[in-house]
Amino acid sequence: MRLILFGPPGAGKGTQAARLVESFQIPQISTGDILRESKAAKTPMGMEAARYMDAGKLVPDDVVVGIVEERIKKPDAEKGYILDGFPRTVPQAEALEAMLEKNGTPIDKVPSLEVPEDILVGRLSGRRSCPSCKAAFHVEFAAPTQEGICDKCSSSLVHRDDDLPDAVRERLRTFEDQTAPVKEFYEARGKLVRVDGVGDVNDVFERLSKAVKS
Ligand code: AMP
Repeated sequence: MRLILFGPPGAGKGTQAARLVESFQIPQISTGDILRESKAAKTPMGMEAARYMDAGKLVPDDVVVGIVEERIKKPDAEKGYILDGFPRTVPQAEALEAMLEKNGTPIDKVPSLEVPEDILVGRLSGRRSCPSCKAAFHVEFAAPTQEGICDKCSSSLVHRDDDLPDAVRERLRTFEDQTAPVKEFYEARGKLVRVDGVGDVNDVFERLSKAVKS
């Protein structure tokens, strides 16, 4: 099963992708996670990408397309994968389509998590993330047991640079301008399935699973 989990920043893609991983036993491929790891490791690509990421802007298409092309070749992606945060522009979607067509391994479905903008802003600005195990918390709605410490692996939680208010607004603007057209791209190919992303995490997952299996 090859999926693209689609939705704006803060829609819950990371949380829901982790559950899909367990349920379908296929890896999650998050370009955001890969870029953050490169940034933390201070690789040349990571340092270059950080300039865009910290400003809430998109990293150039050729960089992320290269990352995905490499990643989906790995053996654990043979049976399928969940793309999270990619593609984010129509040229990325076109590059992915060409790449997969060549191998005869097209995307099966594109579930889209639908969440209104005011809810997204509240979720993102209160988010605290674990840089080690990627668990996500929220200062108000899902606070960790001990403030600033990950419940799962005890690492110190971080307020991501791009979850700061100005960057959040810029990311949502970028999403509307550049990423919303990707939805039309997959709708035109009959692959898009809309999923209500508001409410309890378990309820959203139930709706998502049904949509994926439909
Ligand atoms: P995310 O964790 O998916 O919200 O990604 C964090 C940041 O990484 C984004 O705001 C972008 O700067 C960058 N990024 C992640 N995926 C992509 C992509 N497919 N295209 C361009 N930039 C990306």
